[in-house]
Amino acid sequence: MFCFHKKECTHPKISPDKDAGYCPDCGKYIENRWYLTRCNCCNVKRKSIIKFDTIIPESQYCPNCGSEHYHVEEVKSINFIDINFAVLVKQVNEQRSMNRTQTWLERENNEPIKLLGFNLNFS
Ligand SMILES: [Zn+2]
Ligand SMILES: [Zn+2]
Repeated sequence: MFCFHKKECTHPKISPDKDAGYCPDCGKYIENRWYLTRCNCCNVKRKSIIKFDTIIPESQYCPNCGSEHYHVEEVKSINFIDINFAVLVKQVNEQRSMNRTQTWLERENNEPIKLLGFNLNFS
């Protein structure tokens, strides 16, 4: 019965309009957090995207002043202006999750662990 390939849940049923809730697909307590990037130089809000699990501005340079330096800021309460700039990150609150998973680190190859034996044969 339960032979689905277990992929990491993206919690699609946690809608962005609520702050947090339990995901019906994986049982985790998910917190919706909004982040946007701002220019370090002129402090303008930059349209933000997530790339390789990192929040970055969509464009490399600030459209307002041309600087490439930015910082990431959490948006405490999202509004209809910021939503155009911000990205949504669904963060798992492990403390409140009923269904805690354990992370098992898999070894990359199935080589048996070699014992670091000392060579006692001096002859
Ligand atoms: Zn989920
Ligand atoms: Zn700027």
